[in-house]
Amino acid sequence: MSSVQVIKSPAAMSAWSEAARARGERIAFVPTMGALHAGHLSLLAAARAHGERVALSIFVNPTQFGPNEDLARYPRDLAGDLAKAAAAGTDVAFVPAVPDMYPPGAQTVVEVREVSQGLCGDRRPGHFAGVATVVCKLFGIVRPHVALFGEKDFQQLAVVRRMVADLSLPVAVVGCPTLREPDGLAMSSRNVYLSPAERARAVAVFRGLSAARERFRAGERRAEILAEVALTDIAAAVDRVDYVEVRDADSLRPIAHLEQPAVILAAVFLGTTRLIDNMRLP
Ligand code: AMP
Repeated sequence: MSSVQVIKSPAAMSAWSEAARARGERIAFVPTMGALHAGHLSLLAAARAHGERVALSIFVNPTQFGPNEDLARYPRDLAGDLAKAAAAGTDVAFVPAVPDMYPPGAQTVVEVREVSQGLCGDRRPGHFAGVATVVCKLFGIVRPHVALFGEKDFQQLAVVRRMVADLSLPVAVVGCPTLREPDGLAMSSRNVYLSPAERARAVAVFRGLSAARERFRAGERRAEILAEVALTDIAAAVDRVDYVEVRDADSLRPIAHLEQPAVILAAVFLGTTRLIDNMRLP
């Protein structure tokens, strides 16, 4: 099995990319926070189709965590990640340390306005500014032609698309479908936090979203009713519902009646673990 080249310094990462570009190679990039699971690996597999070179980043970005969130205990497994990435055909892993990404004196924050508001944006103040800033920096360092993101983090994908358009960044953004466990639970690095009992209850999020999609297929078009259908299953199983909402799939604006592509999104707590998921309608 081939191994992955690990690069820690931003300057060395940019040099690697410039050399690849000089050879005429396209670079497909998958940013992650590590603790890789099959969902991440599906992005790396998809990346192969978009470029001769596949770059992965592993960086648990402190600026996208709130003060009471799980930054300190976020799962980390660099050796395991590198083995999985190698098996998935990754060429290079950019693994910077926090001071490399945020040297003293930094003053710039990327704020994507409307699409960062509501949903996770309201519940996690500053989260999407942290995401947009680090993704913008990673694009500047890794210099990819294409970057792949999961639809699992639907609002994040919308924020990144908006940022790339608004700042005229020379990167093509590709969204990829959510990989799920056999029972439907969306794969997430945070699933390891769940106790066996919480893990069993967590599948209700998928069940609720699926029930809403079935109701949509049966002809229901009122957003409020569809959200209620999902909420019935979800609220019965989880410890706290952060939100269950139907939004326009492109703008993420609230909608009352589904006449255009929409998405139903949910965020819940099981114990102290916060999980998110979504499903497109149709
Ligand atoms: P993370 O490491 O959680 O920041 O995720 C890194 C990338 O993997 C993001 O683009 C996520 O949307 C994507 N991702 C996370 N979970 C899944 C999943 N279950 N299926 C597909 N992509 C995912």
